[in-house]
Amino acid sequence: MPTALITGITGQDGSYLAEHLLSQGYTVYGLIRGQNNPKRQVVESILPDVEIELGDLLDQTSLISAVQKIQPDEVYNLAAISFVPLSWNQPELTGEITGLGVLRMLEAIRIVTAASPSRTAGGGGIKFYQASSSEMFGMVTETPQNENTGFRPRSPYGVAKVYGHYITVNYRESYGIFACSGILFNHESPRRGPEFVTRKITQGAVRIKLGKQKELLLGSLDSERDWGFAGDYTRAMHMMLQHPEADDYVIGSGECHKISEFAELAFRHLGLDWRDYVRSDPKFIRPAEVEHLCADATKAHRKLGWQPTVDFKGLVEMMVESDLKLESGS
Ligand code: NDP
Repeated sequence: MPTALITGITGQDGSYLAEHLLSQGYTVYGLIRGQNNPKRQVVESILPDVEIELGDLLDQTSLISAVQKIQPDEVYNLAAISFVPLSWNQPELTGEITGLGVLRMLEAIRIVTAASPSRTAGGGGIKFYQASSSEMFGMVTETPQNENTGFRPRSPYGVAKVYGHYITVNYRESYGIFACSGILFNHESPRRGPEFVTRKITQGAVRIKLGKQKELLLGSLDSERDWGFAGDYTRAMHMMLQHPEADDYVIGSGECHKISEFAELAFRHLGLDWRDYVRSDPKFIRPAEVEHLCADATKAHRKLGWQPTVDFKGLVEMMVESDLKLESGS
């Protein structure tokens, strides 16, 4: 049975990917950073079959040790500083983790492979998935965006992801590593962190409905995104590594909606009019905004046979329903 190592196991995508790989019969290891990381207990309780390995994308030695010990067939590099606004406050750390962290993981794979006689003799390499992002397109040069669209990132996060993308392509071309970069558009779920705008909306709408909150302050309401369900997108990651050829893929729904539309649907599902509660507050406006992202995932449909199963309305309602349960304690 194959073995996978997932970095970012405590994050939204880490949990969905681990569940999917476990259902496919994989042995799954999850990398957790830090001393006594409180999220370790969460992973141990919701994903009891995942083996925990300690390591940090800032620490090359820990990554080499993890890969050496686990000898994975597949490595999924999901770890990152992933919250775009934070990347302006901590740009250097973002570059170190979200950018150079990818290089360190690839180096760990290269070093462990070179030291393994059976692997160098053609006994199966370690496949690598990099979590790239539609934020790399930034100020888009064409719509919709596909694998050939130029990158014009608008945040330290986007810039770091561009580095991660190109170093993945470079290690594929330089060392023949089976390395894929998934350029994923926004994907959400009930497990999305509450700092992200979609979850902020569903949680806020529910709290307003229950009388726990009076209004909801957001940043830009007009920015447009292409949203999908995280479970569908983590399935695509796995499909990329099963294809005979390593390649890069755009993953998205192809539908584009304003943040205000997300809010409208979430509030409407609770019988409320969003315009009575939602305000745009300048303090949440990004220093440089990404106005419009929309995916052309034709290549993933054609080469991988990937299709999403949850549409925009279904996603919003799933998140509202989950927050309603959480906030009302039912
Ligand atoms: P999350 O923010 O939910 O998870 C990020 C993960 O990275 C956490 O597990 C975090 O661990 C871990 N991490 C951060 N720093 C380090 C470090 N120094 N060493 C090891 N682990 C670290 O992100 P998502 O699950 O939503 O996204 C997964 C990946 O996909 C990310 O790389 C993200 O940038 C990318 N992506 C996400 C999109 C989305 O819409 N969700 C869209 C496109 C790309 P800890 O709990 O310890 O902080």
